[in-house]
Amino acid sequence: MNIKNNINNFSQNLPPGFKLIAVSKTKPVEEILEAYQAGQRRFGENKVQELVPKYEALPKDIEWHMIGHLQSNKVKYIAPFVKLIHSVDSVRLLEEINKQAAKVNRIIPCLLQIHISEEETKYGFSEDEALELLQSQDFRKLQNIIIVGLMGMATLTDNVELIKREFKGLKLLFEKIKSSPVSSQVEMHELSMGMSNDYQIALEEGSTMIRIGTAIFGERNTSLK
Ligand SMILES: *Cc1c(COP(=O)(O)O)cnc(C)c1O
Repeated sequence: MNIKNNINNFSQNLPPGFKLIAVSKTKPVEEILEAYQAGQRRFGENKVQELVPKYEALPKDIEWHMIGHLQSNKVKYIAPFVKLIHSVDSVRLLEEINKQAAKVNRIIPCLLQIHISEEETKYGFSEDEALELLQSQDFRKLQNIIIVGLMGMATLTDNVELIKREFKGLKLLFEKIKSSPVSSQVEMHELSMGMSNDYQIALEEGSTMIRIGTAIFGERNTSLK
């Protein structure tokens, strides 16, 4: 794996305005630095216990994105510095993010994770649950978070049509929320969809952020996953 070349290829081929999140989970600090030296500044991690030491060890102009399932009791460790939480999958978690953000005097940008795949095990809100949350009175009390978009993971499959349909559905929900009058804590401008195996489809379907691990850093050692 030539991490530098991979980063350069992505930055040269992505249309302007698209954000590349380099997913560095399980990868050592040295490899993240290689990507950093190629100009990459946005990195994604899925575990708090991995994210915090990496944040501490690496240059402070890195934007850290939390992309994995987040347990409420761990929010406090990342609240001071996290750039964007992609994986808000419950009201309870959003309330805890709000509470911890208030403690450090921040407004933390979040994406609602929407369950779009056929797989049962993946986390996320249904469309109806997301709409209900955004329209609720309780949501208006959460003044230390801002919802800046949606995140979704398509089914892991070779069926391009299925992936396309799932991404289209997410984009449709994104547009629906964007065009409906909700509270001031909602500013829809990011659609986080697309991973190494399906980012091309995601870009065609209107993604603004792709989360790429394997295609930058190579295969992960799954025993560490
Ligand atoms: C691991 C992970 C990715 C990156 O996956 P690759 O297939 O390696 O590109 C993207 N999003 C989430 C939520 C992940 O956990």
